[in-house]
Amino acid sequence: MLVPLTLVIALAAGTDRSSKLAGTYADAIEKVNATHARKPEDRIEADLGEELPRKARSAFEALLELDSGDELTDSLARAAEAALELDLVADFDATRARLAELDADAARALGLAHSRERFQLRGLGGLDADYLTHFGDVLDAILESYDEVFGFDEFSKVPGKKLRVRVTLVDAITRPPRFEPQHAFHSLVDFPVVDGETFRSPTSKGQFLQYGLCHELGHVIAMWGHRTFEEDYHAWAHYTGVVIVDHLAERAVPAHAGAKDVRWRSSANVGEGLGDTAPSTEDRNGVLALLFALHDSVGPKAIGDAIDYLDAKDKRLRINHVRYYTFRELRDGLLEVVDDKALKKRVSELLPK
Ligand SMILES: [Zn+2]
Repeated sequence: MLVPLTLVIALAAGTDRSSKLAGTYADAIEKVNATHARKPEDRIEADLGEELPRKARSAFEALLELDSGDELTDSLARAAEAALELDLVADFDATRARLAELDADAARALGLAHSRERFQLRGLGGLDADYLTHFGDVLDAILESYDEVFGFDEFSKVPGKKLRVRVTLVDAITRPPRFEPQHAFHSLVDFPVVDGETFRSPTSKGQFLQYGLCHELGHVIAMWGHRTFEEDYHAWAHYTGVVIVDHLAERAVPAHAGAKDVRWRSSANVGEGLGDTAPSTEDRNGVLALLFALHDSVGPKAIGDAIDYLDAKDKRLRINHVRYYTFRELRDGLLEVVDDKALKKRVSELLPK
């Protein structure tokens, strides 16, 4: 069939247009994030959204206005993903609503987004908005507990950027929650759940979701050693995890009413398991004993202050923006923030020079 040349050009232009518009929008978001990551200063993610150039904003609006095009659904999905990179949840929602008119499955696959002051949740696998709101309360209570116990200044590997948690409803949890360090501009925790009704933990299969989330935030705060050597033998996140579970149980936070992890994952349980293991940096139990010895002597607030002190100097190893610490640096930090002579001595005994 002969198609008039003008029509061919018009179709081609129409098809390309959605992907060009989505590209303009997504590239601008990437640029804002990259500029921020190079020099975060005191800007927070909400400020960054306002830095999106007018051209990108117009491209986004034009994309929503398009009625057809072979690539339109893909372009909308791309724009929706890009919006979340800058926590532009209103853009995400508008894109998702437009996509729902064209392809309901594609819109569902995008899931839902829920944003709060310090984090952004992504609900996948059919999680509903009420669950995400409740999960937001669960995570807020955990972050507040970290504030109260340790008082870490910064949860994000790129200062100012919100933490992300991808909450996916699955039939069975076959992989534990995981900190994903690979994202360019933010820290992300991948978090599978089995019950889309309420936050209950442990699950019927004995998986500790409450402790798991507290543990992953420990990784978000600090990794130890370097690329090929985990200096803490995975003890740090276990330590912060049980300490926060203790604190949540003491505070009896309503959002955590369905969580009973403290019966199995508490610092008392860890203490019993350690017996008279001596503090050391030799193996996992030694490091756990070391962290609890610091906890019981200088206290968790001093540990938080020491980490903040090291962050303020920002001389530590960073891999893909993720902050890595060593016990030697922790020693330096603690000696800086602890005033009491006897406690300084204890720090020197416990941590390697
Ligand atoms: Zn872990």
